[in-house]
Amino acid sequence: MAEKRDYYELLGVQKGASDDEIKKAYRKLSKKYHPDINKEADAEEKFKEISEAYEILSDPQKRAAYDQYGHAGTDPNFGGGAGGFGGFGGAGAGFGFEDIFESFFGGAGGGRQADPTAPRQGADLQYSVTLEFEEAIFGAEKDVKYNREETCHTCHGNGAKPGTQPEVCHKCHGAGTINVEHQTPLGRVVSRQTCDVCHGTGKEIKDPCPTCHGSGHEKRPHTVKVNVPAGVEDGQQMRLAEQGEAGTNGGPYGDLYVVFQVKQSDIFDREGPEIYYTLPLSFVQAALGDEIAVPTVHGDVKLKIPAGTQTGQKFRLRGKGAPRLRGNVNGDQQVTVKIVTPKNLNDQQREALRTFAEAGGQTVSEQKEEGFFNKVKDAFGGKK
Ligand code: ZN
Ligand code: ZN
Repeated sequence: MAEKRDYYELLGVQKGASDDEIKKAYRKLSKKYHPDINKEADAEEKFKEISEAYEILSDPQKRAAYDQYGHAGTDPNFGGGAGGFGGFGGAGAGFGFEDIFESFFGGAGGGRQADPTAPRQGADLQYSVTLEFEEAIFGAEKDVKYNREETCHTCHGNGAKPGTQPEVCHKCHGAGTINVEHQTPLGRVVSRQTCDVCHGTGKEIKDPCPTCHGSGHEKRPHTVKVNVPAGVEDGQQMRLAEQGEAGTNGGPYGDLYVVFQVKQSDIFDREGPEIYYTLPLSFVQAALGDEIAVPTVHGDVKLKIPAGTQTGQKFRLRGKGAPRLRGNVNGDQQVTVKIVTPKNLNDQQREALRTFAEAGGQTVSEQKEEGFFNKVKDAFGGKK
């Protein structure tokens, strides 16, 4: 089978399309490409593709899995033409148009179509929290404030004015769906649609709640305390159950995903539990050795620098890194030596260095330096 196309693209809907939009798009396309009607060579293949797309996108669980993982996230039984829809062998397979629609839209033996009156979980929300470098290492408690859809506090979600009750919808008798008959070249077709009176809730509200106007939800500011675990890293996220938006038909709240953004440090770099620090040393300290107080996130740590230390040499301060999220052992701090060459020497220092060089059998001549400088000037300026 060729590479699978995006299900939303197949149905010609946006990624955030409502269940209703998806259903409408599918109905239109399935009529257009049904092999009994459309005799074009690729109609059957198209029909299978859009049927498969609808099968996934009309099921909240499968849709969520598809949104997160793409084709890999959906049940392999529904993949390709060999699965659930492999049976439509084309025009002669013996299916009536009506049977097909019945089974797709949850009629007779169906039940695959989500019941519009069933409780549904609310939408998930995402919020990003900025952490200081140290907060990510040691953990923190953060208040996250945001607006979310909550169950209306006036009507407790039923949408009716206090003192009144929602009534059973007179059109669908509480089912939330109605059967609609269509006349097609092949005869009568019955399809199931969301009830236009109650919009699928199965209830009719005569006196709407003054706060939410019948929706059962209201936008309210919400604060949640987030315990940031010690050792989190930039980009990691945390799920807070039921801190998202209110569900419908009495369903639970959605979840909140908190994404951590960790600020950089001026002196440290960090990769997971490892912390990196560059230690500037004078060449005298490096040559003679020294004992230095090295900053770490856990406070200063004494480090012995052996005589003859070279630039780029590394030292490891065990357990002075960030905590590992799993396990209770800290990472290390790696210290990399960087020898700093002195600038702006005074006469005494210059003399001392010359003496140092001569003691090692080297000669340093001021004339030589000037001679070189003049040569460079000559090369650029022509004559002097
Ligand atoms: Zn209300
Ligand atoms: Zn209704």
